[in-house]
Amino acid sequence: MAVIHELSSHLADLIAAGEVVERPASVAKELVENAIDAGATRITVEIENGGVTYLRIADDGCGIAPEDAPVAFRRHATSKLRTEEDLAAIGTLGFRGEALAAIASVSRIDLLTKQRGVLAGTHLHLEAGQITEQEEAGCPEGTTIVIRDLFFNTPARMKFLKKDFTEAGYVMGVVQHAALSHPEIAFTLIRDGKQVFATAGNGNLMTPVFGVFGRELTEVMLEIEPFERGGVRVWGYITKPHSPRPNRSMQHFFVNNRYIKSKVMQAALEEAYRNKIITGKYPCCALFLSLPLHMVDVNVHPAKTEVKFAQEKQIFEAVYIACKNTLEMDDNIPEIREKPAPTAKEDNLTENQQRMTAAPPVPAPEPAVRQPVPAALPARPAAAYRQPYIDADDFDDGVPAAAIRQAMPAIERGESALHHLTHIPPQAAAPEAEDVPEAPAPVPAAPIANPADGGGAAVASADEPFAPAARVLGEAFHTYIIAEDADGLLLIDKHAAHERMIFNRLRQTEQLPVQQLLAPVVAELHAAQAGAVQEHIEEVRAAGFDIEPFGADSFAVRAAPSYLDSADIPGTLAEIAEKLLTSRAPVTDRLDDLIHMVACKAAIKAGSHSSMAELQSVCDRVLGDPEVTCCPHGRPVTVRLTRYELDKLFKRVNQ
Ligand code: ADP
Ligand code: MG
Repeated sequence: MAVIHELSSHLADLIAAGEVVERPASVAKELVENAIDAGATRITVEIENGGVTYLRIADDGCGIAPEDAPVAFRRHATSKLRTEEDLAAIGTLGFRGEALAAIASVSRIDLLTKQRGVLAGTHLHLEAGQITEQEEAGCPEGTTIVIRDLFFNTPARMKFLKKDFTEAGYVMGVVQHAALSHPEIAFTLIRDGKQVFATAGNGNLMTPVFGVFGRELTEVMLEIEPFERGGVRVWGYITKPHSPRPNRSMQHFFVNNRYIKSKVMQAALEEAYRNKIITGKYPCCALFLSLPLHMVDVNVHPAKTEVKFAQEKQIFEAVYIACKNTLEMDDNIPEIREKPAPTAKEDNLTENQQRMTAAPPVPAPEPAVRQPVPAALPARPAAAYRQPYIDADDFDDGVPAAAIRQAMPAIERGESALHHLTHIPPQAAAPEAEDVPEAPAPVPAAPIANPADGGGAAVASADEPFAPAARVLGEAFHTYIIAEDADGLLLIDKHAAHERMIFNRLRQTEQLPVQQLLAPVVAELHAAQAGAVQEHIEEVRAAGFDIEPFGADSFAVRAAPSYLDSADIPGTLAEIAEKLLTSRAPVTDRLDDLIHMVACKAAIKAGSHSSMAELQSVCDRVLGDPEVTCCPHGRPVTVRLTRYELDKLFKRVNQ
């Protein structure tokens, strides 16, 4: 007896529904996408009980012809795709012709639709995928679909649903992503009779950004420096590094106006924040990428939330360069603000709840005035330990590779390569003479007034009168430098600042500055530590330690990074060994970590005494070097209390 037979179309729809329709939010997503594809300018989503019992989506799009309406609910019925070639260049959000059939198979549906300029519309009623009513109807132009009792005929699926409030939150996510990707469409979300989210549809991306991220995050957002190369364009908003989040829930990525999850874009974004953000914290973004349709395959995921890029490296570079350039143009100094006390009501709400109840967006704030690109571009990581992502081969005609990398960000922005390369001294990245101490004796921990240990951009030359950017008033707790400038007070963490200066100095040089020791220092390690150092001995050497095994678990150190006090060498090596034992990071990242450790050990300690001259020197260099805005772990170096905020605190001004 034959045991193989074709599934009934109803059963096939139910199976397809399992992939596409997971919860009310997936229904909302498919129907909102249909409305967008229909050219709507207004889309309203209304839900009750998290969308489980009632979900209505109304649009003012092109509508569906009476004869097409029943067809739309058949499996593989679509108006968006005809030939195999169409599949290689999908410009609509939908294309499989599955969604309406799948949703209809697990719910009760009413469809009301009328094409533009046509007299009569159509009403259809469906129960579990079967059309039970079809009639002419008077209705506005566009399409309204009401989904009732989702999963009424598949009780097993109901069990997987979460509380109504959580399901409503997922629907909110869908509407927010749609609003971000289509600022030209006015979106409204109504939950249990109350409007909880709305955008104006005025085309200004800032409006949905404000609605989605809220006031506090929007205030610390930077508009991405527009970037375009090879048909790939990047734009959007990212947050300043000093306001990170504990998770990635506020990272939103879009490709060709489709919300997607992308490991490549996420990695590129986070790489741009490397050494700027506290470890274990994450930036927020609404990051948009557009590229020619043939360079991306959107047909790789049932819910179309993942895509495949033909050229992942190119995508990574575009996102990385755009974000990196944006961050480099910002001073990243957090401002102290008087926080409005939360009302008792707000206090009890979770963040998501607060967003759900957020007021409609206010007009976009004026974009912040941008500083011009600093003339001396911050150096890229040294080739010794990080391969540049930016392919510099095209420009390599006798100009030092490091100089090319240094000029790369500006070149990427379309500025003249020649200009930047001729303005960078050929030896820019080579260690400077002052990095190598003349006397062979080890120097003590670098004194902070030593010009060798920082960027030194603000250090005046002998014949130029030097006006400090800020006047140091003193220090608090032997830890925080207090300075004033025209705009207000600056608080500088002296250890973090000094650590960053040394770190930058170390990783900017092609060869790390090393000091020969008069007599070798012997570092005794535990067996496991010694094993790790032995295994990674080339990395340890690349970090500036000239070491050889010396007896059982000991190493003789003949030379060490210049900034390190010889007394700190054994301890630093032990820490490096521990790091090597536990770290699973790739070699390039590990070397960064080793340099962190050296910088941290060599930097002036919080709590130690410093002279006013030393404090002024740190302050000058912090303010003169845009790269010294946070310590290598991402903690801020400088915090600003503006004159205005001070005046507000003392009630000298009215708000
Ligand atoms: P797909 O979007 O993949 O084409 P769907 O099952 O979601 O498949 O929709 C089937 C068809 O129904 C669409 O191709 C479109 O022609 C029509 N349709 C669905 N929703 C709308 C809408 N809101 N406005 C106009 N046409 C719609
Ligand atoms: Mg669709």
